[in-house]
Amino acid sequence: MRFMNPASIPVTRTNQSRLAEIDFNRLEFGKNISDHMLLCAWRNGKWHMPEIVPYGPISFTPAMLALHYGQAVFEGMKAFRMKEGSINLFRPYKHAERFNQSLKRMAMPVLDEDFFVNCLHALVDVDRAWVPREEGSSLYIRPVAFATEERLGLKVSEEYLFAILTGPVGPYFNKPIRVKVEDHYVRAAEGGTGYAKCAGNYGGAFYPTQLAREAGYDQVLWTDAREHKFIDESGAMNVMFVINGKLITPQLTTAILDGVTRDSILTLAREEGISVEERKISVEELAEAFKHGTITEAFGVGTAAVVAPIAVVSVHGRDYTLPPLQTGSVQERLKSKLHAIRLGYEPDRHGWNYIIK
Ligand SMILES: *Cc1c(COP(=O)(O)O)cnc(C)c1O
Repeated sequence: MRFMNPASIPVTRTNQSRLAEIDFNRLEFGKNISDHMLLCAWRNGKWHMPEIVPYGPISFTPAMLALHYGQAVFEGMKAFRMKEGSINLFRPYKHAERFNQSLKRMAMPVLDEDFFVNCLHALVDVDRAWVPREEGSSLYIRPVAFATEERLGLKVSEEYLFAILTGPVGPYFNKPIRVKVEDHYVRAAEGGTGYAKCAGNYGGAFYPTQLAREAGYDQVLWTDAREHKFIDESGAMNVMFVINGKLITPQLTTAILDGVTRDSILTLAREEGISVEERKISVEELAEAFKHGTITEAFGVGTAAVVAPIAVVSVHGRDYTLPPLQTGSVQERLKSKLHAIRLGYEPDRHGWNYIIK
């Protein structure tokens, strides 16, 4: 189904808004869900008319295929309140493209990109009062699609639900994190589903992450499945290092999620004249850089945190500590630049902002 106009999506408004209950100065990530949601079903080989309805539970059977065989994918993106009050959906087409890549990998039906963006547009417009005005806050948007066919047999589902939920989120507190280089468990292998934002990738990462937490770390730094020799990424973030003044990040493989924040940060870094290397980076190289004091920064990048500084990297049981963050660090500069573009303080040269008037 194609929609060239978000206004053609039917809306049933709630008569019990929960907006007044929200303390916008104390938002816990993911806790508050806005008044409305969008639902759209795939049946008989096509996507049907989406609808925007009051947010709430939906009923389903425990025989729903997604629960058994894992056909479930999601996206994570944000809308910002710009300096003059309009709402900016950040890079929705890039997220549409990735949602489709994830859907394809899970043998699920893709969505027309304009249709996807129009659905986002319509929903955010209905709940526009939920887009925070507080500094550093935004509206987090969670598109999700899952198999809904009622069956016990192992098969590709013939029915799906596509839904979009949103919720206000506050500034991410940038307490530097401790990460452990994983040399036993694997998040994703090349040829697997690592590049897809599919539910199973996260379920499978919980246990190794719990073990890392028990050992005193916040996150796992995943390495390649074959040799545990090269850095992949961390949690739900891509990773970047500043070594000898160069910004270095693992090159994308089918085992790494192609982060929109990663792409935005690399683009801005190149524009700032920072030398950028997308290549394999070995655990060994990282340890050497710590020993020689050539590494000055390590950080994760992703929609939720934007930039999350790393304080400690544990390599084979040995903790290496990053120097304290200096003002004017590469990560701070790039983060503020991105922030300025999203809020309209600096020109959007790449067409990243999708503005809802
Ligand atoms: C979502 C995600 C990221 C970050 O992607 P963004 O588009 O920047 O939010 C990185 N790695 C994994 C595994 C993810 O799920």
